[in-house]
Amino acid sequence: MEFRTLGKTQLRVSAIGFGGIPIQRVSLKEGVEIVHAALAYDINFFDTARGYTDSEEKIGLGLKGKRHKAILATKTMARDERSMARDIDISLKKLQTDYIDLYQCHNVKTEEELAEITGPEGALVALVKAKEAGKIGHIGITGHIDQTVIKALQVYDFATVQFPRNVIEDAAEKELFPLARKKEMGVIIMKPLAGGAFKNPVLALRYLLGWDYSSIIPGMDSVEQVKNNAALAVDLKPLTDIDIQRLEDEAQTIGSKFCRRCEYCKPCPQGLDIPSFFILHSYFERYGLGDWSISRYGSIQPNVVNCIECGICESRCPYELPIREMLRQVHKDLGQ
Ligand code: SF4
Ligand code: SF4
Repeated sequence: MEFRTLGKTQLRVSAIGFGGIPIQRVSLKEGVEIVHAALAYDINFFDTARGYTDSEEKIGLGLKGKRHKAILATKTMARDERSMARDIDISLKKLQTDYIDLYQCHNVKTEEELAEITGPEGALVALVKAKEAGKIGHIGITGHIDQTVIKALQVYDFATVQFPRNVIEDAAEKELFPLARKKEMGVIIMKPLAGGAFKNPVLALRYLLGWDYSSIIPGMDSVEQVKNNAALAVDLKPLTDIDIQRLEDEAQTIGSKFCRRCEYCKPCPQGLDIPSFFILHSYFERYGLGDWSISRYGSIQPNVVNCIECGICESRCPYELPIREMLRQVHKDLGQ
């Protein structure tokens, strides 16, 4: 495994880290096995979040008695001091530890949120106190909107930044990551497979490993995935021209108007599981699973006909997707 320095934290993290979203889908027992496998394959960087239901709990249980082998990062959407202090304590408890290496302000979307976080009773007050009390080691930030995160880096000396980056999402390389490098921050790459849109994880991850990012954190929900992903950072090889062509071909097929499955659009007041419709539609469009997708769509309730077009989902989507229009297309193709 290649280890890299997480910016000014000086922590040495595995170039492939563990993204903690998909572990929510497996049982507690499987979750623990997956965490054990990650450690066995030398993945030492684990990233989770307060908002990922039982992800912290599973990772905490998996690291029981092995905490010293891991560098642990988590995050919360708390914006004020009191909620942040509460969430830090909950994270410590769920993760079964008395110290979290990196605590991040999660998905900072607007300048208003940033002003609240950095204000006199904002989340940063609690984070700094927790750091002074030895509960956390470093303070980081995550987001999906580069201009907001750039602003955040200008107003506070965060130790790390976590942002989406993959073959089709390179906005961060324009201003954000150059600024982070200048400030000697750790750079953590989320959504390396564009929320599962890339079906060739080997090439997509190898592409990112060729950059100077501290850790790339694909989500993993099986021992097999852990093994395969970890192997990519053991013997790094540059991509060939043929590899690059294949990646570019796949990127062109995916385009930019696609759902990254981040789930920030939820909950829908009508109970629609919005990303699941887009997943089904991608099977329909890209993987020749037309009949299966149509039949699955027919069994889901509520579905797109129940959408009242309120637009709440669109105001939450960090990628500014025209969700209502996309859902109408889903129904047109699958609602047969
Ligand atoms: S526009 Fe439709 S899908 Fe979006 S939140 Fe409103 S009801 Fe739900
Ligand atoms: S529609 Fe937008 S907010 Fe919802 S899961 Fe997809 S990318 Fe995320």
